[in-house]
Amino acid sequence: MIKEILQKEKFTKQDIVNLLKAEREDLETLYQKSYDIKTKYVGNNVYLRGLIELSNICGKNCFYCGIRKDNKNIERYKLNDDEVLNAAKFAYKNCYGSVVIQTGELQSEVNTKRIENLLKQIKKLSNNKLGITLSCGEQSEDVYRRWYEAGAHRYLLRIETSNKDLYAKLHPDDKYHSWEKRLDCLRLIKKTGYQTGTGVMIGLPFQTFEHLADDILFMRDFDIDMCGMGPYIEHVDTPLYNHNIELLPIQERFNLSLKMLAILRIVMKDINIAATTALQAIDKTGREKAIKIAANILMPNITPGLYRDKYQLYANKPCTDENEEDCKKCIDIRTKMAGSNIVYNEWGDSKHFKNRLNFQNK
Ligand code: SAH
Ligand code: SF4
Repeated sequence: MIKEILQKEKFTKQDIVNLLKAEREDLETLYQKSYDIKTKYVGNNVYLRGLIELSNICGKNCFYCGIRKDNKNIERYKLNDDEVLNAAKFAYKNCYGSVVIQTGELQSEVNTKRIENLLKQIKKLSNNKLGITLSCGEQSEDVYRRWYEAGAHRYLLRIETSNKDLYAKLHPDDKYHSWEKRLDCLRLIKKTGYQTGTGVMIGLPFQTFEHLADDILFMRDFDIDMCGMGPYIEHVDTPLYNHNIELLPIQERFNLSLKMLAILRIVMKDINIAATTALQAIDKTGREKAIKIAANILMPNITPGLYRDKYQLYANKPCTDENEEDCKKCIDIRTKMAGSNIVYNEWGDSKHFKNRLNFQNK
């Protein structure tokens, strides 16, 4: 049955549910198909984005996240400008094509201006060579535009789940945590001209196979350019931890995440798909497994070592006791293990984005 589904041009929701249930040889067939599509459409290349975790200060209170505003059990930090620029220099010197700036969500003119200046300075110190992705949450159209004009050209904002009711179970019921608002932000990001990335968490409490199938269809219909998705990993200092006993075992969440990546690759052939850190938190070679199946983007952490253990969105975050140099040695080895070719000094933009624009201009 899996073979028949995989021959179809377009999957139905039920097809995706069936694929998510694939086991043993069927699973091998699914992964092989995904890998073939990946190599055909985006090649066997892996592009690097040095990840800078700017701050763990966040104005929001998502029920699943370790750096939520009301978690009093963490020490808050904000990298200073020199620390950010040094991390960007490290990325540039080591030939990473891009950086990602990710942070807790802050909406203020001071924050907007600071990021705007940092973007300009990163562009300057790298002679415009470093590509920049932002993952700084929900903002106004004006803020998205200012950051775009300052040099960012990709933006990641996970929808977290495409199901409104499930979203409501994972967030406080107030105007700061609205699914519609998040979707509007994604639309604004796209309208501003960014390569637009989204994603979901996999293995959440209350989440069904049907929800996950809808997530794939959501990403297809929204016509995203990039995706970062991975397993939900519980954090003890969060309200969602109360639902721990209802969760799938962690290894099953990991396996389900790999299946989601494979299906998404088959559905959206030429997008960029990240091998996310949460995969590695469960399985030491989790990111390599993702690359072997579907992913083509790796985001090595280049946040100064001192701060890494403070940016804990979930438990068991890997590599918090390492520094940037360790990460560099580690990536080369790991990616070779996955039989892929690491590409240095290139942005590795989403092919889907280029194809989307060409199509629009015809
Ligand atoms: N504040 C920004 C960016 C930082 S959070 C934002 O929310 O968009 C980045 C991502 O971390 C979130 O989108 C969420 O999907 C993920 N995340 C948070 N808590 C998590 C958890 N417990 N397990 C797995 N992923 C988590
Ligand atoms: Fe803040 Fe993002 Fe965590 Fe939500 S997921 S609490 S917005 S850092």
